[in-house]
Amino acid sequence: MKHVSEPILVRSCAVFAVALQHAINAANAGSTLALLVLNLQRSDRIAALISASYAKKMRTRLWDRLCPVLRYNDQVLFVSHNEIWLLLPDLTAPELALLATHQILSVLEQPLTIEQHRVYTNPRIGMVCTPVQGVTASTMLRMADNAHKKALQEYQKLVVAQGDLKANLLPENLPKLVSEVLDANTLSIVYQPKIDTNSKRVVSVEALVRWPGDHPEYIPVNVLIETAERCGLIEQLTLHVLSTVLRESSEWRAAGLDLLIWVNLSARMLGQSHLPDILMHIMDIWQIPPSAIGLEITESALIHDIDQTTELLSQLKQLGFHLSIDDFGTGYSSLAYLRRFPIDELKIDRMFIQGMTESGQDKQIVQSIIDLAHNFGLLVVAEGVEEYETLHMLEAMKCEQIQGFYFAKPMPAQELLPWCHQFHHRHNVA
Ligand code: C2E
Ligand code: MG
Ligand code: MG
Repeated sequence: MKHVSEPILVRSCAVFAVALQHAINAANAGSTLALLVLNLQRSDRIAALISASYAKKMRTRLWDRLCPVLRYNDQVLFVSHNEIWLLLPDLTAPELALLATHQILSVLEQPLTIEQHRVYTNPRIGMVCTPVQGVTASTMLRMADNAHKKALQEYQKLVVAQGDLKANLLPENLPKLVSEVLDANTLSIVYQPKIDTNSKRVVSVEALVRWPGDHPEYIPVNVLIETAERCGLIEQLTLHVLSTVLRESSEWRAAGLDLLIWVNLSARMLGQSHLPDILMHIMDIWQIPPSAIGLEITESALIHDIDQTTELLSQLKQLGFHLSIDDFGTGYSSLAYLRRFPIDELKIDRMFIQGMTESGQDKQIVQSIIDLAHNFGLLVVAEGVEEYETLHMLEAMKCEQIQGFYFAKPMPAQELLPWCHQFHHRHNVA
């Protein structure tokens, strides 16, 4: 039974949406209603996914943490193991919504202890407050959801959507916007170095696409990719990325910096049998051999049609492209696939990397991925390394390469050359 001073625990998204609509209708001009989408980048993600009893215990811990900072008429919905929606009605000023959000962040930033493990939740919040003219429950949810995506994308703890409905909703004409930006060639690329743990040399860079900074709309990378995939624009996007990469890298190659460049291939691209042809067409235009390019393919994209994927990867490999499996550990692929795919490296998903200093389970997962990769003669890259402690652990585990904010955030092409010089100089690498 609900304790009188406890907030209300809501059981489903539909019930939450009804409660939200009710709160919007009931809100009077002088009061503020805040809606929060809370994302937890949990260090115990796998445990929460595979054990229902563990997930339940953890949910109780989270509830116990949240209760003291919420009021009796606030409403809470556990949407999934890593997402919580909160509805805070009847606030007398918008500042109180901010205060509540900071309290929520501060109670969740303290590690939780469960089954003798310390669990970090890395909370990120997207928030929207009324009054927003003419808002409905679903538009308000979309606004808070977009704000939370922006918080994840920009590594911010809290992003508050502005009260202006138009500015914060993902535009209805998203496909048109993406198409226009692609046609105008204004998507930019940033590069993040991968460092060899032994030699402390920059061995390669990953190219990551960015929405144009001067565009009036803000579209996060994941939304951009998803829209391009859904609307048949992903081929155009991939070719734009590859061409830009070849153009920009020829400038730094001329200046003496010769790095392998990794480009991300979306799952949809793998379904296209003419993929090798279109990639080679661009390589030929720039007169650069495929051996200068690596293709990162997310693990989950590989396991749909194993025979077709194996065939396609073999063709790409034969042409000379390097191949990497991205976000490894999240796709539950079996060892059998790994043996069949002609790949060069495995990139361990950053979820495990970021959890490994605190969670014994994550550390074990990382160690077994490294051992597995080495048994198959593959290189291992750890992505998302932010702390020295993590780097140190990975070095001891014989992980060959590191990518992450500890060394560098993704940067524009013109910053890469001076950054590499400085980095090599600092590490006494000739
Ligand atoms: P990804 O390929 O796994 O790329 C790594 C992501 O992790 C990048 O996010 C990068 O900025 C971020 N990251 C790197 N080091 C750290 C770290 O130490 N800490 C944290 N918190 N994050 C780190 P980004 O650029 O937002 O890209 C997200 C995803 O979007 C990429 O994940 C990739 O799947 C996709 N993507 C990006 N560019 C392209 C592209 O040109 N084509 C396709 N198909 N997908 C792309
Ligand atoms: Mg990648
Ligand atoms: Mg990745």
